[in-house]
Amino acid sequence: MNQSHGQRYVHVQALESIEPDCDALITTTPGIAVAVLTADCIPLLLISSQVVAAVHVGRKGLINNITVKVIDEMKRLGATSIHAKLGPSICGLCYEVPAVMAQEVALSHPQALALTRTGTPSLDLPKALIAVLLSQGLTFEASEICTLENSDYFSYRREKITGRNAAVVWL
Ligand SMILES: [Zn+2]
Repeated sequence: MNQSHGQRYVHVQALESIEPDCDALITTTPGIAVAVLTADCIPLLLISSQVVAAVHVGRKGLINNITVKVIDEMKRLGATSIHAKLGPSICGLCYEVPAVMAQEVALSHPQALALTRTGTPSLDLPKALIAVLLSQGLTFEASEICTLENSDYFSYRREKITGRNAAVVWL
């Protein structure tokens, strides 16, 4: 997908030659793999026995609630029990942001408020996303790998120009 930090999702039912403009792909078709590319944002995979989804969750995606929209659509498509996997992303100790930005996010997601090792404002996006997942009744597993601290993974913050980590899921 062409990810743009938006809130649009696309239901994929066959192999596509185009990349849809969206931040989540959903499929109910066995054998179709959906993927999300990230380089500090959270790659979120949502798994049920009937439906799977790959979701791009950054600061903007947390605020625009794309995750809840995708969960609602998965339930509409028949998902009864959804398990979430959060891949490696930048951690709350590393994701330094201006204080004003931290406060903006905290208005809707207070769990995101964090501090860096030097005590400056930061955002803990995985912690805030996990709170959303739990509020929706999901179970979850979260990677503890920080993309900025672990050079095995791409990090936009560390490298400025970067590749992308892929997270892939299929039925
Ligand atoms: Zn970190």
